[in-house]
Amino acid sequence: MNSAETTSPEPNAYETALRQFDEAAEILDLDADVREILRRPKRELVVNFPVEMDDGGTRMFRGYRVHHNITRGPAKGGIRYHPMADLDEVRALAMWMTWKCAVMNLPYGGAKGGVEVDPHRLSLAELENLTRRYASEISVLIGPEFDIPAPDMGTNAQVMAWIMDTISMHAGHSIPAVVTGKPVAVGGSEGRASATSRGMLEVTLGMLKRQGRDPQGLRVAVQGAGNVGMGAVRLFDEAGFTIVAVSDSEGGAIRETGLDAAAVARHGAGGGLMKDLPDADRISNRELLELPVDILAPAAIEGQLTSANASQVKAAMIVEGANGPTTPAADAEFADRGITVIPDILANAGGVTVSYFEWVQDLQQFFWTEDEINARLGRQMRDALASVAATAEESGVTLRQAAHMLAISRVAEATRLRGIYP
Ligand code: NAD
Repeated sequence: MNSAETTSPEPNAYETALRQFDEAAEILDLDADVREILRRPKRELVVNFPVEMDDGGTRMFRGYRVHHNITRGPAKGGIRYHPMADLDEVRALAMWMTWKCAVMNLPYGGAKGGVEVDPHRLSLAELENLTRRYASEISVLIGPEFDIPAPDMGTNAQVMAWIMDTISMHAGHSIPAVVTGKPVAVGGSEGRASATSRGMLEVTLGMLKRQGRDPQGLRVAVQGAGNVGMGAVRLFDEAGFTIVAVSDSEGGAIRETGLDAAAVARHGAGGGLMKDLPDADRISNRELLELPVDILAPAAIEGQLTSANASQVKAAMIVEGANGPTTPAADAEFADRGITVIPDILANAGGVTVSYFEWVQDLQQFFWTEDEINARLGRQMRDALASVAATAEESGVTLRQAAHMLAISRVAEATRLRGIYP
């Protein structure tokens, strides 16, 4: 039995991804042959590689790059540096990327990469060495026409600049379109840094409007204080929501009357832990997920809302900034209790959407303004939400099932049209 077929009550990320796929494929009555094709990752690369450390020694690291499906276009997906990264996690994230790109109707397939490392324990020089070596190792798979990586947990714009430089050095000329999420100074896009959070805000506002609810003053709790979580704190605050709690892996802070979003940003930018935020009380990650808020935004890691805590969740709406934060058992509980879950493959798709804009700008060598980027992003998020919500209403299914159905139908159609080679 392989690891993805165990029957433990709390599935890992890949088991979760497969169950979500199977559920949607079943509702769609998807042809068995197509189902088998779409269920499996197309290719998986595992690399073991040495990195020279500051003490003069050498340490071995393991990395991955998985292409789940490339039927609709080049593979697209982030690179994660995390001590618990493993092949099943990367497979899951790659599969979700396929569906996310298809939900957004972007001309991409799905991929993901990862390295088993805690980047916070490396010096800047070690991080650069590791990144350049990993980029070389996966260079057999990546390129503007094949596979375009981007940031994910533990990686950032600087890491993307090193990957872009490494691939460019091998080629002898600049290849900015090989990665997205780069600094603007080397071909990155305006608006990319906050795109995932902006997309979350767009779909939240869109869903509240559909429900006839006024967003002003609604209480929000955000799990995760990284690129996605911090952006959400800032943008939701600017839009009139009240941010009552925020956390990182060490715990969080709560203030019933609302946190000062600018102070949270300054504290985070200075390297402060959320539990040490001034003028706020401490809260654990577990407590944060169970707060009586209007909107819960998990923006950290997979498997946070499970059969163990779903019954304690009091939020009326869950907006998944993270990939895979909700297990199928928790999903079923939320559906029963009428809690609206805006699923990851829609809610956090703003990041890959502006990554697509960045790739297009790099290929055309013609750059757009931030206003143009944000306006296009807003339109694409609202259109995707409208399609997903319409499918959910017509078919009487959850938003997650609807998003998967829409995405899987699009990839299935492309698969049928292209046919089986030879
Ligand atoms: P990041 O590395 O910038 O930040 C991650 C944050 O989560 C950190 O504050 C970390 O302390 C916290 N964290 C880690 N483990 C935690 C735990 N167990 N409990 C609470 N907090 C924890 O990462 P990011 O880029 O913001 O990504 C966060 C999530 O959003 C991931 O699931 C990622 O796949 C997803 N995502 C990111 C992007 C993007 O553009 N960066 C796009 C789409 C989805």
